[in-house]
Amino acid sequence: MSTASINGWSLTSSSSVSQASSVTRRPTLRPSVSARLTTPSSSSSSSSLPALIRNQPVFAAPAPIINPTWREDMGKESYEEAIEALKKLLSEKGELKATAAAKVEQITAELQTPSSDSKPFDPIERMKNGFIHFKTEKYDKNPGLYSELAKGQSPKFMVFACSDSRVCPSHVLDFQPGEAFMVRNVANIVPPFDQVKYAGVGSAVEYAVLHLKVENIVVIGHSACGGIKGLMSFPYDGTTSTDFIEDWVKIAMPAKNKVLAEQGNCSFGDQCTYCEKEAVNVSLGNLLTYPFVRDGLVKKTLALKGGYYDFVKGTFELWGLEFGLSPSLSVKDVATILHWKL
Ligand SMILES: [Zn+2]
Repeated sequence: MSTASINGWSLTSSSSVSQASSVTRRPTLRPSVSARLTTPSSSSSSSSLPALIRNQPVFAAPAPIINPTWREDMGKESYEEAIEALKKLLSEKGELKATAAAKVEQITAELQTPSSDSKPFDPIERMKNGFIHFKTEKYDKNPGLYSELAKGQSPKFMVFACSDSRVCPSHVLDFQPGEAFMVRNVANIVPPFDQVKYAGVGSAVEYAVLHLKVENIVVIGHSACGGIKGLMSFPYDGTTSTDFIEDWVKIAMPAKNKVLAEQGNCSFGDQCTYCEKEAVNVSLGNLLTYPFVRDGLVKKTLALKGGYYDFVKGTFELWGLEFGLSPSLSVKDVATILHWKL
């Protein structure tokens, strides 16, 4: 467990974790929603689902499809109230025998199991076996590495990658524990500096640059990105079909606009590919809105790089950021100066 300190604050200690989960500190979820679990075939409101989820395997797990429903009285629910509401929802279906969490787990496991498979998928068994493999094959065989990591971390890289299950940078780039401080989100987007809207990403960038003193920030896009497909698909005409996704991927709107302007005659699939790469450049540009990132670039203690992993072709491209620190930085200032294609 890392115990790096910031101005005397100890982060990520086990004691702070237990404190955070104690009953004396109850997080409030805002806004709260209730979720209704349905199979695709039984969904009666599939027309309200975003096209991104309905027909796109990139994003959507096989099941369950979660149809969020909003009630006016839900805006100020606490975390505990949300759980109670879920229990009530499941109870009303007449099958509540264990805890709500156990029920959700069961439903999820059932829906994720192909009907032709006689042995149901056991997520706990899968994770247990995974940890045993890691512990015996990696942890126990590298005592030097893990004893060093017990003292702290000193990664050279900060990596932004998509949440997509197929693009884990630790696999694709063989990053070992301690090598890459990572943020993964939908469409590997770096939002601009905003202490209100994007504190999560901002705190990660701040911690990586100022305290871990990473030397490289790499934003990695990828082929067949559901988030980018969503960006290219959503009409942005005032209507919305998602609670979060449209607003989030909209950060990369300059990439969409550029692709539509310059690749308007391409197929939609090719436009998405262009946008997957251009959105990386938008994120590199957004990184320049963080003062400590700019300082690192000026002092040459920090470098920014864009990457693109194509898991269909099995290729990886890497490019650098060319910048002149002009007062009005734009996407145009982000130019390819290094290009690897293996
Ligand atoms: Zn993606």
